[in-house]
Amino acid sequence: MKQLVTYLLAGLCCTTAFANTPKNIIMIVGDGMGPAYTTAYRMFADNASTPAVESTVFDRMLVGMASTHPDFSDGYVTDSAAGATALSSGVKTYNGAIGVDLDKKSVQTVLELAKKQGRKTGIAVTSQINHATPAGFSAHNESRHNYNEIADSYFDNRIEGKFVLDVMLGGGWKYFKREDRNLVNEFQQAGYQYIDDMANLSKVKVGKPLLGLFGDKGVPWALDFKHKNRLPILAKTAVKHLENDKGFFLLIEASQIDWAGHANDVAAAMAEMHDLALTLQWLENYVLKNPDTLVVLTADHSTGGLTIGARGVYDWVPDATKALKMSPEKIAQQLLPSKQRWTLASELLGFEVSQDELQSIITADTHKTMHRAICKIIDNRSNTGWTTSGHTGVDVPVFAIGAGSENFIGHSDNTDIAKKMFALLKAR
Ligand code: MG
Ligand code: ZN
Repeated sequence: MKQLVTYLLAGLCCTTAFANTPKNIIMIVGDGMGPAYTTAYRMFADNASTPAVESTVFDRMLVGMASTHPDFSDGYVTDSAAGATALSSGVKTYNGAIGVDLDKKSVQTVLELAKKQGRKTGIAVTSQINHATPAGFSAHNESRHNYNEIADSYFDNRIEGKFVLDVMLGGGWKYFKREDRNLVNEFQQAGYQYIDDMANLSKVKVGKPLLGLFGDKGVPWALDFKHKNRLPILAKTAVKHLENDKGFFLLIEASQIDWAGHANDVAAAMAEMHDLALTLQWLENYVLKNPDTLVVLTADHSTGGLTIGARGVYDWVPDATKALKMSPEKIAQQLLPSKQRWTLASELLGFEVSQDELQSIITADTHKTMHRAICKIIDNRSNTGWTTSGHTGVDVPVFAIGAGSENFIGHSDNTDIAKKMFALLKAR
């Protein structure tokens, strides 16, 4: 009997130890995804034919909240560079800083430690791959605006003699194929496979490092992507190419939630959230089959001051965000030169535009004012509110599943999330 108990305890012990130290870490950043975004998405995704408001994949994975402020010398509201540096290195820094501290000295990131330990590393994002968030995990620069320098560093820097990243998927032709330097060629000559059409991603052979660029800057909006659901494709491909005996660290970013927030564009925001939700659903299954994988999702900050309900109305009606034929940005492009704005607007928005609503569409004379007019119509129909075109300082939700996910329960500072990942990497 005593032997049996010892055996069971030992078994339990091993199982627990195994479950607590992930072989693979997948960090996901929903850029700008404050708590109003996950709540709005629940309502957006709700099946209106049932009395219940169905829970989402976000609800299933929720474990806590995180504070996001940068170094106090820069106040309480962070940008994505300081946010990414905090999440990647555990160091508070100034807004604009990419993987450097207040003295502009490089700080080690969790991705770099993973690489040093012999794991494979990758990024799969919907912005350009050298944008603030992925750069905050993979580069060091005093300013996020030094896009070319950051792109160069992806090729020039080495960790233990190896390239920083084995897999890079996202946008960025503008920075990787330049007059002064063609990094795509350089990567190819160094043994990387290169691909520039997302439709061919599944055909790429596993075994060689991979560079995939699918846009000049970011990849197209989810609403404009012809194959739909682009982040799940990027995430699945990255995982497939990173899997190996020693494990991997992958950063996935739903980058354009933030871009929709800056534009106060709730329709684009909900489509980006849906793209992320589908990615998470796939990852839920992946973790079931690969329990030695940890998935952590959070936001770097909230964007736009999105509110569910506006102008004193006690209701939020997302219907107007659901039938769009394309992104509001693209609708604006098509409406501007059109002689028949009324019929075209109704067709592209997927609902009958009223006489009142038409006024702003008729008078718009620039792409910006037209985009604003369209977003305003959708805001009014849905009772969506916004307080700013910038970021806000609210806490953001934290989500985690898989090995070691219990470490992320409760309130964390964004720097704690990095510290916990460092500890998990070192424990294995
Ligand atoms: Mg970002
Ligand atoms: Zn932003």
